[in-house]
Amino acid sequence: MLENNITSLKHRITTACQQSQRTNNSVNLLAVSKTRDINTIKNAYDYGLRQFGENYVSEAEQKITALPKDIEWHFIGPVQSNKTKTIAKHFHWVQTIDRIKTAKRLNEQRPKGMEAIQCLIQVNISNEPQKSGVGVSELMPLAQFIETLPHLTLRGLMAIPKADNKLTTSRQEFAKMAQLLKQLQLDAPQADTLSMGMSKDLEAAIAQGSTMVRVGTDLFGPREHV
Ligand SMILES: *Cc1c(COP(=O)(O)O)cnc(C)c1O
Repeated sequence: MLENNITSLKHRITTACQQSQRTNNSVNLLAVSKTRDINTIKNAYDYGLRQFGENYVSEAEQKITALPKDIEWHFIGPVQSNKTKTIAKHFHWVQTIDRIKTAKRLNEQRPKGMEAIQCLIQVNISNEPQKSGVGVSELMPLAQFIETLPHLTLRGLMAIPKADNKLTTSRQEFAKMAQLLKQLQLDAPQADTLSMGMSKDLEAAIAQGSTMVRVGTDLFGPREHV
């Protein structure tokens, strides 16, 4: 099943790229492995996947320790202050930065000798109350702060549109994200990443410029718990 799912996802990504005249290798597939066990992740690894996303720190720490060292791990859950130390120790990417405090702690806690953490700022693109992510007006100040930190590299933006959005609404929000990235690039030319699109809406995200789709369900099957 996993092998077929990987093949069909790669096909969906290729087709979406062709339809918007983009090169195929301009979109990365991030395998969202939250709640999946180590064997399942190892199978996906054996089929060639190397980028995995995790939401829960203690669950992720066990997996990262047990699995091959050439995996690139992305933290994609809300960052709690008491977890930044473990995140800084284990993850290559953090996609969910939305506060100065988090950026500061990750920068201070990155162990010596490790390369900078690749960071994305999460944007609350659907303007949901009490949802993670910065509002549009808070984006540039946070970006400018991250740019001063030696152990973080700002690579772009990430968004999770509202779960019950209509596809037309998500499309508009993805387009808005692409605009925000362009704006950010004026200050931070190295910011090349737009992480958006999941199982249900990855085609719409790719059409608007996503460079990284985050897929759980259509890769590993339905989750038993969130
Ligand atoms: C769970 C999760 C995904 C994957 O969602 P699916 O609908 O299972 O593909 C992507 N991004 C984030 C931030 C998630 O928490």
